[in-house]
Amino acid sequence: MSSIFDHTLASAREALRSRKISAVELVDAHIDAIERLDGGLNSFITRTPEQARLAAKEADALLAKGEGGSLCGLPIGIKDLFATEGVRTTAASKILGNFVPPYESTVTANLKREGAISLGKLNLDEFAMGSTNLTSAFGGVENPWKLRDSDAKLVPGGSSGGSAAAVAAGLVLGATGTDTGGSIRQPAAFCGITGIKPTYGRCSRFGTIAFASSLDQAGPMARTLQDCAILLESMAGFDPKDSTSVNRPVPHYEAALGRGVKGLKVGIPKEYRIDGLPAEIEAIWQQGINWLKEAGAEVVDISLPHTKYGLPAYYIAALAEASSNLARYDGVRFGERVSGASLDALYEATRAAGFGDEVKRRILLGTYVLSSGYYDAYYLRAQKVRTLLQRDFLKAYETVDVILAPTAPSGAFAWDEKPTDPVQVYLNDVFTVPASMAGVPALSVPAGLDGRGVPLGLQLIGRFFDEETLLAAGSVLERAASFTHRPTIHAGVSA
Ligand code: GLN
Repeated sequence: MSSIFDHTLASAREALRSRKISAVELVDAHIDAIERLDGGLNSFITRTPEQARLAAKEADALLAKGEGGSLCGLPIGIKDLFATEGVRTTAASKILGNFVPPYESTVTANLKREGAISLGKLNLDEFAMGSTNLTSAFGGVENPWKLRDSDAKLVPGGSSGGSAAAVAAGLVLGATGTDTGGSIRQPAAFCGITGIKPTYGRCSRFGTIAFASSLDQAGPMARTLQDCAILLESMAGFDPKDSTSVNRPVPHYEAALGRGVKGLKVGIPKEYRIDGLPAEIEAIWQQGINWLKEAGAEVVDISLPHTKYGLPAYYIAALAEASSNLARYDGVRFGERVSGASLDALYEATRAAGFGDEVKRRILLGTYVLSSGYYDAYYLRAQKVRTLLQRDFLKAYETVDVILAPTAPSGAFAWDEKPTDPVQVYLNDVFTVPASMAGVPALSVPAGLDGRGVPLGLQLIGRFFDEETLLAAGSVLERAASFTHRPTIHAGVSA
């Protein structure tokens, strides 16, 4: 091991347990890297080095006694959508301002219980709405990758763009993300890392700031699938504080990684071959098919007939829920307040000043589709489409075990290449939204580089609560791709 930054979460875990490195050393090195590199990347909204150093000392004391949880001493980052007790939590919005939660989200409490050490809160699109991380009130995040022939700043994807950039740059060994319509998978693909959106209900939503409650799902982001499996095992589990969390035992995910794909049936959905799909995306998809075949899987063509309605239905259902969830930010109970002559004026001034443009657009659209006269035509219809999308998957899983598709229709693009038409931005989510609408688990693994030199991801979509088959198949892809490229900006380079 030439540098501390060559460690994965798994190898760092072993090095800590065998006392080859100390938690203090590991945490200090990562804090230094953040100080060196994050001024430019802007992946953190709030850094917590002091708490992290204290926690590292405690971790070393436990490790010395052969004690400590499964993540003892491992430095991670937390998407700033998870409430953290005593640590500012903003959802990347001005309206939460200096909100310091008096409670901890269940997912982060679970990670802490196992001894993970948070280095701080990671940037995101405001309220997790977006695919570029440029809607954050705390400034955009830069993808640590660069195009081969240009120094332009690239987007890291979104909404978990800070998580993806920090992991890719080696500032943390893993991070939490949330995925409502693709926010773990798409940024993972754009930054050349791995991310899992578990089955809806697998991880508790308690203490995660809501965007669209029937879709929001927390999941891990890390440099390898094994690291994601390790993190997910701690994050997942039943929580009586979330009525949609599911009471099923959490499997030993790491053990599923080596199962292989012999005898597994992999479906290739023909509807994902959309018009205008770039040849490079098509090629990487075909490469994925070949890798799985070579490893003994049977690959079959399938149909998910309602796929084309996924995106429009998502942008109705998710926005309707968002408009309702965000009604609570009224300047009275949370965060920033702008006063006014009457209570209505206070609400209006607070919300006008506190929310960014994309959030306002979504609140307006969401309120519209829920309004009387339009509810049946839009919202109810979108819910019906959602059922059809779910049925598509259930039907497909009568014949296949897992589905292979691209993660996104392109690789990372430059900040100034972001389309000005919001609908064009929404098209980024075309391959990730259907699994979210159906509630089934999905992951993204890095599969190669595109012609411009940035990573492309492959997506696997699985059966309800069958994250293990996803991990087994994902692991085959990961090994075949042997993606060892590093981004231009990473902790191993001296700045
Ligand atoms: N990009 C999608 C959106 O803007 C998904 C966001 C997410 O998954 N949080 O809604």
